[in-house]
Amino acid sequence: MYTKVDLDKKHIVVLGGGYCGLRVAKILSKKLEKYPDYQVILVDKKKIHLYASDLYEIATAYYPKVTQACLRELSGSITIPFDEVLKGSNSCFLRDNVTSINYSRKTVTFKNSGEIPFEYLVVTLGAVTNFYNLPGVKENSFPLKTIEDGMALECHFEQTFRERSEKNIHTPFHIVVGGGGFTGVEYACEIPGFIKKLSKKYKFDPVEVKVTVVQGGPEMVGLGLEVSVLTMKRFKDLGIDAVCSTRITGYADNQLEVSNKDGTNKRQIPAEILVWTAGIEPNPLLKDFPILHESGCLDVESNLEATHYPKVYAGGDNAAVFDVTHHSMLPKLGLLAVQQAPVIAHNIWADITGKEQKAYVPKFKGFIIALGGKFFIYHKEKQTSMGFFQWIKRRKFDFWYFRSLLPFMKALKKWWKTENIFVQND
Ligand SMILES: Cc1cc2nc3c(=O)[nH]c(=O)nc-3n(C[C@H](O)[C@H](O)[C@H](O)COP(=O)(O)OP(=O)(O)OC[C@H]3O[C@@H](n4cnc5c(N)ncnc54)[C@H](O)[C@@H]3O)c2cc1C
Repeated sequence: MYTKVDLDKKHIVVLGGGYCGLRVAKILSKKLEKYPDYQVILVDKKKIHLYASDLYEIATAYYPKVTQACLRELSGSITIPFDEVLKGSNSCFLRDNVTSINYSRKTVTFKNSGEIPFEYLVVTLGAVTNFYNLPGVKENSFPLKTIEDGMALECHFEQTFRERSEKNIHTPFHIVVGGGGFTGVEYACEIPGFIKKLSKKYKFDPVEVKVTVVQGGPEMVGLGLEVSVLTMKRFKDLGIDAVCSTRITGYADNQLEVSNKDGTNKRQIPAEILVWTAGIEPNPLLKDFPILHESGCLDVESNLEATHYPKVYAGGDNAAVFDVTHHSMLPKLGLLAVQQAPVIAHNIWADITGKEQKAYVPKFKGFIIALGGKFFIYHKEKQTSMGFFQWIKRRKFDFWYFRSLLPFMKALKKWWKTENIFVQND
C-alpha cells in the first residue's frame, strides 16, 4: 500500500510519473532514505506509467478474437502500475489531477486532495496533442498519445472492418496519418500488416484500403535526408502513399483539406480515418508559471533547475534545454527525459545535503525507427543502417527499459508477453 502524504514533512513534489518523473521519484526516494524530514510525493492522474515508444504496436495489435481479456492484456503490455515500481520505496504516490501550481505560495492544488505545499517541485507533466485549432481536426481525428488513444484506434479499426464485412461494403477505404514525424511514420508502417490480418478475418481485399501519410515538413521523420529517403522507399514497398511539404488546413465529411506550404494548390484527400500525430504542445498547466521559454516550456539552467524559479526543476517535454553541441533546443524525446531524471534527483539531493551540483549533458545514442514488422532503421549522427538487427536492438532497449523500473523476473515476463503480442501481425 502507498505511504500517505505526511503534512509534518518537507515535500518534494514530482508532478507526472512519465519517462522523467517516475525515475526522479524512484532515485530520489532512495537517496533521501536517511533524511526523514523530507518526503517525495509522486503525483499522476493515472495509476499506470506508459512506455509510449511501443504505442504504435498497441494501435495495430491483432487478435483473432477480441475479448475483454485481450484488451486488458493489450493495455497492460506497455503500462506499468506505479505501485509495482515504487514498492518498498518510502516515496508516496498520489493519484490525483493537478489543477494548478502556485509558485509564489509554493503550493500545488489537486482535484481531490486540495492544496499541498512543496519545498522542491519537479515539473514533468509531459505534453498534450496539438491540433493547431484546425477546423474539424480535434473533433474527428484519432490522436496517438495515451494508452487510451492506442486502444481506441485498435478497436475502431476492428469495428470498422467488421461493419463493412457485415454490410458487404467493398468501396475504397482511406486512412490518412497526419504528421510524418517519428510517431506518424512508425504507426503508418505498421498499418499494412494489421490490415492484411483484418482482411483475412473480415473477408476483404487489402487493396481496398489505402494509407497516406501527410507531412508538413520537406522530409519524413525529421532526422535528415537519408532517413527520409529510406522511409519513402519503405513506404513504397508497403504500398503507402506519402506527401511532404503539405499543410493540413481542415477536416470535414471524410475529406482532408490540404494545401502547399505557401497556401497554394488547395485540394482534398479522402480520409475515412484521420490519425493525428502532427504535433504536441507543453502541458497547459505550465502556463501557471508567468515566465516561460517561447516554446511554452520552462527555461532551465544546466543543472535542470528552472531559470526563473529556484527549487523548481523541469525535465522531459517540460524543459527547454539548449544543446550546446548542436546549437539548438533539444528535441522532445523519452530517451532524453530518461537521462535527465538522475541529474534532477542528484541536484535536489545535493541542494539538501550541501553537495556539488551536476550539469546535464545530453547523450545521443542514436535513434531506432520501426518501419513495419521487423524492419527498422538505426540512425546516429551521419551513420544510418537498416534491417532485422536493428529490430533486435530495439527489442533489447524495450527490455532494458522495463528492467530499469522492475525486478528482473517481472521485467522479463512483461517483455516476453509484450513481444509476443507485437509479432502477431509482422
Ligand atoms: C506515440 C509516441 C511514441 C513515442 N516514441 C518515442 C520513442 O520511440 N523514443 C523516444 O525517445 N521518445 C518517444 N516519444 C516521446 C516520449 O514519449 C516523450 O518525449 C516522453 O514521454 C516525455 O517524458 P515526460 O516525462 O516529459 O512526460 P510523459 O512521459 O508524457 O509523462 C507525463 C505524465 O504526467 C501525467 N500528467 C499529465 N497531466 C497531469 C495532471 N494534470 N495531473 C496529474 N498528472 C498529469 C501523465 O499522466 C503522464 O504520466 C513518443 C511519444 C509518443 C506519443
